[in-house]
Amino acid sequence: MALELDGKKLAKEIEQRLLHEINTDIEKAGRPPGLAVIRVGDDPASEVYVRNKEKACLRIGVKSFGLHLQEKTSHEEIIEKISSLNRDDNVDGILLQLPLPQGMDETLLLNSIIAEKDADGLHPLNLGKLIKGEKGPRSCTPAGVIALLSSNKISIEGKRAVVIGRSILVGQPMALMLQAANATVTIAHSRTQDLSSITRQAELLIVAAGKPNLIGPEYVRNDAVVVDVGIHRIQVTDSSAANHSYRLCGDVKFEEVSSKVSAISPVPGGVGPMTVTMLLVNTVSRWQKHCGLPFSLLDLLP
Ligand code: NAD
Repeated sequence: MALELDGKKLAKEIEQRLLHEINTDIEKAGRPPGLAVIRVGDDPASEVYVRNKEKACLRIGVKSFGLHLQEKTSHEEIIEKISSLNRDDNVDGILLQLPLPQGMDETLLLNSIIAEKDADGLHPLNLGKLIKGEKGPRSCTPAGVIALLSSNKISIEGKRAVVIGRSILVGQPMALMLQAANATVTIAHSRTQDLSSITRQAELLIVAAGKPNLIGPEYVRNDAVVVDVGIHRIQVTDSSAANHSYRLCGDVKFEEVSSKVSAISPVPGGVGPMTVTMLLVNTVSRWQKHCGLPFSLLDLLP
C-alpha cells in the first residue's frame, strides 16, 4: 500500500509552528506580520482562493490587508496601490492573485511588487536567488512539495527526478529546488516526445501538467514517489443526467497509480493546502527580516 503524502496534516503542523513563532516574537517586533492580497475583477475561483488565504492569516495571527479592485481598474491605478503597499511598514508580503482579467499586463504588475515583499517568490530577483542558492522568498507550490517530501522522510539526494511542466509558477522552480537538493532532474513538457519512456525512469515524479488524469500506471515505475500538483474541478453527471455535481481530481489517476508506487500525494489534500501554508511561511520570514528578528524558518525555504 502506498504511503499517502498528507498535505492537509502537514499544513496544520506548520501553521502551529508559525503561530508559535509569531506569539513568541510579536512583542519584540511591535506589530504582527502583514500580508496584502490584491484581487482584480470577479473570477469566482480567485474569490475562493483569496478567502482561504485570508482565513489562514487569521488562524495564525497574520494581519491581512485585502484589496479588491474592479475589473476595469487601470494599470496606473493598480501600480499606485501596489506602490503604497510597498511603502507601508506594516505590510511584509504582497500577493497579486492570478489570473488577472483579460488584457492586463501580468508581468508589469507583478514586477511592480518590490522583491523584498514578494510573498509568492515569483519576482525575477527572487527566482534569481533560487538559481544561485541564496536565501529569499520561494515559490509557494514547489516549496510545499519539498516540505511534503522531507516531512515524510523521502530523500531527494542522488534521486532521478522528473518534473512534468515547465511553468514559471510550478515546473521551473520545482526543478531548481530538486536540483538544489542534489537530485538529477529532467523537465518534460508539452513538446516532449515519448513522455512515458522518460517518466518511467523517475524515482521521483512531480506532475504539474494541468491535464486531468494524464498520468496512469503505464507512466510510472514500480516503487516511485509521485507528487500530483494538478488540480481540476470535474463535472460529474448522475445517471438521470438531471443533476450535476463536481469533484476534484489531479493530473494523476490516483487509484490506479497508487497500487504501483511507494508514495503518492492525493488531490485534494496533497499539494493544495501546502501552497497556502508556504505563502504564510514567506510572509512570516519577511516579517522576521523586516523586524530584525532571528530567522527560524530557513528549513522551509528550500
Ligand atoms: P501551466 O499551464 O502554466 O503549465 C503546464 C505545463 O505542463 C507546461 O509547461 C506544459 O508544457 C506542460 N504540459 C502540458 N501538457 C503536457 C503533456 N501532455 N505532457 C507533458 N507536459 C505537458 O500550468 P501551471 O500553472 O504550472 O499549473 C499546473 C497544474 O498545477 C494546474 O492543474 C494547476 O491548476 C495546478 N496548480 C496547483 C497548485 C496547488 O496549490 N495545488 C498551485 C499551482 C498550480
